[in-house]
Amino acid sequence: MIKISIEEFAKKYKKSNPDENLKDVTSRLKDALKRKKEGATCNVCGAPIWAIGSAVGGFDGCFTCITGEHDDSEDYEVF
Ligand SMILES: [Zn+2]
Repeated sequence: MIKISIEEFAKKYKKSNPDENLKDVTSRLKDALKRKKEGATCNVCGAPIWAIGSAVGGFDGCFTCITGEHDDSEDYEVF
């Protein structure tokens, strides 16, 4: 995964989702990252969660369960 700061990702996300509130997205990302660091696991398979996907996708899940894909090399993750 490509590492990105929460602030940077939130700005990118806002650009492609102009209706979203930047503050709201930032706080959802922070929450999800905190849960990940505390050991939150995917609701479906039990793998560590993907913080970005969990923040914008509506449930705590890993990359594969959220996107249905296995290659995460070109996707972002906050740190
Ligand atoms: Zn999973």
